[in-house]
Amino acid sequence: RAKSTGKNRYEFYTHEMTDQALERIMMLGAMRNAIEHDQFILHYQPQIDITDNRIIGAEALIRWKDPQLGLIPPDRFIPLAEKNGMIKIIDLWVLDTVCRNIRQWQIAGYQVPRISVNISARHFGTNNLPSDVETILKRNQCSSDMIELEITEGVILNNPARAGKELKQIRDMGIRLAIDDFGTGYSSLSYLKSLPLDRLKIDHSFITDIPEDQNDQAIARAVIALSNSLGLEVIAEGMETEQQRQFLIDEGCLYAQGFLFSKGVPEEEFLALLNRH
Ligand code: C2E
Ligand code: MG
Ligand code: MG
Ligand code: MG
Repeated sequence: RAKSTGKNRYEFYTHEMTDQALERIMMLGAMRNAIEHDQFILHYQPQIDITDNRIIGAEALIRWKDPQLGLIPPDRFIPLAEKNGMIKIIDLWVLDTVCRNIRQWQIAGYQVPRISVNISARHFGTNNLPSDVETILKRNQCSSDMIELEITEGVILNNPARAGKELKQIRDMGIRLAIDDFGTGYSSLSYLKSLPLDRLKIDHSFITDIPEDQNDQAIARAVIALSNSLGLEVIAEGMETEQQRQFLIDEGCLYAQGFLFSKGVPEEEFLALLNRH
């Protein structure tokens, strides 16, 4: 395009590229700074047994606490971190913080449930993840059965053989594996029988419009049946209403996370929720 439309267009094009590059470099600097100055924080969203509201786990969700801008949600910076390469540092920071918290909470006497940590698809394929995970768990004296890693179908799509190998190494350490946002990833279902998975998380987009949307009902029902017959645990994301809870119980999905019980909350609030139980 640039070549065929002459000199002016070409200069415009390079300026555009420069602006993008500049923005990327500035974001990269801002993210490095955020790690150094403890501007990332974790919220914890309880995962519950929907038949009795017992907390059976929690998902760690990152937020960026900027002194000027306040709390920035992950959708605003995780995609950028995936582009500029910071995602690996961020994911490992999250895992490290979670392991440290688990240990501290246990020492303080809390009955701590398993914590789920999101790992970006970008993190697979370099062969570093299994040993990085092992190092972090050891360093924090965190037991591997306290951790679940959430991955998306994108992990399998990118490089199935390599991802499979790394996932098996991680599962062999005793860490649980869940497929996040299940049903949104365009991948084939055949990986479900070859990968060492523990759990499927039904994407919240299939839960939000239940009971009104018959198609979403059908999809949720099918995912629950598939999980149950494959011997995988199934958990629904984004359960917001009593009707959705009843639907899930009726269909045989007994775990959920969602605003009906709690959104992601800061550490102190999460510990208060644990105390209530
Ligand atoms: P996700 O892993 O699917 O996380 C669930 C998201 O759904 C969270 O948004 C959570 O607050 C939201 N949610 C939970 N219950 C409900 C509900 O009942 N209704 C509605 N409307 N939403 C609900 P959040 O915290 O903004 O995170 C968005 C995404 O950012 C996550 O989706 C995940 O893909 C990514 N993310 C968050 N933390 C991390 C992290 O530490 N590392 C990486 N790599 N990605 C992260
Ligand atoms: Mg998740
Ligand atoms: Mg999800
Ligand atoms: Mg998501």
